[in-house]
Amino acid sequence: MPWLYNPCLALDTLTTNHVQYYPTTTNILLQLTTTQSGKGAHSSLSTTHNRKKQHMRDLANRALNIAQQLGASYVDVRVMERTTESIDVKNGRVGGISSGTSSGFNVRVIVDGAWGFASSANMDDAEAERVARQAIQIARASALVAGEPVILSPLPAQHGFYRTPMQKDPFTIPLNQKVQLLLDADAAMRSVQGVALTNSNMEYAREHKLFVSSEGSEVEQELYDVGAAIDASAVDPASSEIQTRSYPNSFGRQAGTSGYEFIEAMNLVDHGARIGEEAVKLLAAPQCPSGVTTVILDGPQTALQVHESCGHPIELDRVLGMEAGFVGKSFLTTDKLNGHYRYGSEVVNLTADATITGGLGTFGWDDEGVPAQRTPIVTNGIFSGYLMSRDTAPMLGLASNGCVRADSWNRLPMIRMTNVSLEPGTWTLDDLIADTDDGIYMSINKSWSIDDRRLNFQFGVELAYEIKHGKPGRMLKNATYTGITPQFWGSCDAICNRDEWIVWGTPNCGKGEPMQTMRTGHGAAPARFRNVQVGVGRW
Ligand SMILES: [Zn+2]
Repeated sequence: MPWLYNPCLALDTLTTNHVQYYPTTTNILLQLTTTQSGKGAHSSLSTTHNRKKQHMRDLANRALNIAQQLGASYVDVRVMERTTESIDVKNGRVGGISSGTSSGFNVRVIVDGAWGFASSANMDDAEAERVARQAIQIARASALVAGEPVILSPLPAQHGFYRTPMQKDPFTIPLNQKVQLLLDADAAMRSVQGVALTNSNMEYAREHKLFVSSEGSEVEQELYDVGAAIDASAVDPASSEIQTRSYPNSFGRQAGTSGYEFIEAMNLVDHGARIGEEAVKLLAAPQCPSGVTTVILDGPQTALQVHESCGHPIELDRVLGMEAGFVGKSFLTTDKLNGHYRYGSEVVNLTADATITGGLGTFGWDDEGVPAQRTPIVTNGIFSGYLMSRDTAPMLGLASNGCVRADSWNRLPMIRMTNVSLEPGTWTLDDLIADTDDGIYMSINKSWSIDDRRLNFQFGVELAYEIKHGKPGRMLKNATYTGITPQFWGSCDAICNRDEWIVWGTPNCGKGEPMQTMRTGHGAAPARFRNVQVGVGRW
């Protein structure tokens, strides 16, 4: 992938001495120089921007027309440019600052009932024609292999523009301000005696996409996603044991489709000392005991539980055996979509909703031009829907519910989670703990494992607390729990209310070969599960 890097991110005002330097390119230089140069520069940026948009449109229509002339019964063209910047601070110093832009286009066709797909990073007329021809050739070759012809669910022509709602464009916030926020959070973590390792990171991206199809659709989107997180580790020098606490989430960062205000609202600095202290205390905490007990999962862990045990097994391409990489099959076979299959208890309601403001899986249209929408997945515990594409939904006599995305211009779009969420319940967290006589509260994921039908899972968390007689008790370390998906969700008897409900972002969901990394969202609040096997790991 042609990631392009630029050294002008190393601004003079940067007070740190560990900035990563990269070879230069001109397009990012232009963009950064212009956005920092005031009004006159802004109007020239607008002109450049409009010219670029027109070029994208001309290129897409040219490729579309050629593919149609060559005999495709369906064509879509996606032109995409994604710019990402990231900042990492490690142990009190800037570990790296990087910026990259990836741009290109693809042509997807149906010929003789088979798919063809080709792409290029060179966006000129000759390449539009070459890529269109190549997609046609690949489709003709694919049609030689016996199989059912592709049928697309109906879709009225789509037109429009969608931009992520936001207050502060993260690219216009001065770099030194963003670096300083992470350095301040790092200092707060390191102010705690016993903290040995600290990390903080921030990443933000802008994605410009144009989609046109032979059915008359033309939709354009400007999507922004932002995220950040910090973590502190304490090390026992005698045993080399390491304990880590993260905020707001582990394995990457908490992320959403929003502006810089999303990161500011995290108040990273305010949480630095707390997570540092918790990491140190964990070293001396007792192990989580083994047994069957009541478990309350915090929001981030509930979100990951939803992602792994609900989000992946409802991907219809996996259910139909069209995609099986990365623990890729599903126990939710199509015979279970009969209105009677019990996935969870009465209080369990799950939805796939690409329209939630700020969700990391939020957009205007998916990469097949299907409008963002909300689909019931589990209703009062009964399994009620899949994540679908235009070419899988007709196999169930249904229409696509807009769940197809590709992580780049050179990747075939496939079914991905949008925001797959556990709908809020009625409890406050305080009342839920007070109502629990004997149990364990578990916070933020440390490890996960699930079988390839997404049935049998085991998760570990960073920190746990005993709950005794309705009150939090001792801190426990290395807590784990295991279960079977429908039994586990069947044992859910309480979910916290909307005040505790947050859309957690998973910025690193892997699927497909070659692997695509996608950004998904999961609304979740703390939830209680009965009769759960805990303490299953060896430490
Ligand atoms: Zn995933």
